[in-house]
Amino acid sequence: MHPIVIIGSGMAGYTAAREFRKLNPEHELVMICADDAVNYAKPTLSNALVGNKAPEQIALGDASKMATQLNMRIEPLTWVKEILPEQHQLILEKDGQQTTQPYSKLVLAVGANPVRLAIAGDGSDDIHVVNNLDDYKLFRKNLEQHHDKRVVILGAGLIGCEFANDLQNTQHKVIVIDLAAQPLGRLLPEYVASSFQEKLEDIGIHFELGTTVEKVIKVENGDYQISLANGQSVVADLVLSAIGLQPNLELAKAADIHCSRGILTNGHLETNQADIYAIGDCAEVNGLLLPYVMPIMQQARALAKTLNGEKTHVHYPAMPVAVKTPAAPLTVLPAPVGVDVTWHSEELEDGMIAKATDSQDTLRGFVLLGATAAKQRLSLTKLVPDLIPAAV
Ligand SMILES: Cc1cc2nc3c(=O)[nH]c(=O)nc-3n(C[C@H](O)[C@H](O)[C@H](O)COP(=O)(O)OP(=O)(O)OC[C@H]3O[C@@H](n4cnc5c(N)ncnc54)[C@H](O)[C@@H]3O)c2cc1C
Repeated sequence: MHPIVIIGSGMAGYTAAREFRKLNPEHELVMICADDAVNYAKPTLSNALVGNKAPEQIALGDASKMATQLNMRIEPLTWVKEILPEQHQLILEKDGQQTTQPYSKLVLAVGANPVRLAIAGDGSDDIHVVNNLDDYKLFRKNLEQHHDKRVVILGAGLIGCEFANDLQNTQHKVIVIDLAAQPLGRLLPEYVASSFQEKLEDIGIHFELGTTVEKVIKVENGDYQISLANGQSVVADLVLSAIGLQPNLELAKAADIHCSRGILTNGHLETNQADIYAIGDCAEVNGLLLPYVMPIMQQARALAKTLNGEKTHVHYPAMPVAVKTPAAPLTVLPAPVGVDVTWHSEELEDGMIAKATDSQDTLRGFVLLGATAAKQRLSLTKLVPDLIPAAV
């Protein structure tokens, strides 16, 4: 019997392995990953500065520790170049050498890559992205080399705003630039977004909205001059791009695995190819692409049972996301795409509650801004129907 093979050592890969081991301590398990397979919690990256956490403290375990802990073989720094679904085999590449790896079942946990804007100028190659621990190490190193503490962030989405708050809290001067007219454009109604923005502005974060970056050029002292489409220009020590993530689809597409925005799976996390499953940021499950931690936990639990012989449907309850902006604590449960909702809001002394209800008056989403509103997270979540019911 060939091993179960997991591609990817991110939260999805490791959680799937851990859940499987709870059910089956023995079956041969192999993890192949392009990176060094260090286990870490990615959400920590956008609030590590304020807790004074060095990148080394974020790592929870290296490949050999994880291999022992989970009783599996881990192949770090190894690329999967090709999947041969008919043969149930992978073509691997490590240090320029190609080998093959057979599998009985294959789990794609290949994640997503940052979207990059085409920006002119000799400084554009130096724009940082932070989507893994190595990116973060480089970002921290460059941050520490500059003393003027001026950072420009492209993108006022969840990750851009979290980094902005973390940097501002550590005495950096932050400018956030976004083409949209408001932060967290896709997640918040306009009036909540402006209240959220005000709270971040109150601690000194500056927003330049409705515009984009056209050019980044290197100037003296290792600084960068950033020219905006609205005619303004700013000088900063470094530029961080956080304009979104794109699921990693190339490997799957080349193996004739159906993809849309993500790798398409049914509720059993099965792709169209026999014995190949997808989870995590790369997976579009029943038409839902939810690149967050909670869906990974739900997927991994269901998939572990399936891999252990008990075919199990994933359960998606309502899964709110907490945005890590202490200056404006925010919990968001976006209403499902395609559902028409009406927003109702309630002002509180330290924030607001906004509820999205559908035509049947059923709660489908909400936004909780401030510490008082956050206390309603559990009670409101219980009122929202499951996205994918427990068993269908
Ligand atoms: C800064 C930041 C903060 C976040 N904060 C939150 C939060 O507060 N709450 C929340 O719910 N979510 C948050 N998220 C999202 C959450 O972290 C992700 O949903 C999750 O980490 C994705 O894990 P993953 O395993 O699917 O993907 P990844 O972590 O991207 O892992 C992909 C893996 O696949 C490997 N791989 C890819 N292609 C190949 C190949 N061909 N061969 C071999 N290996 C390959 C990579 O090397 C990597 O090991 C945050 C994300 C970021 C970037």
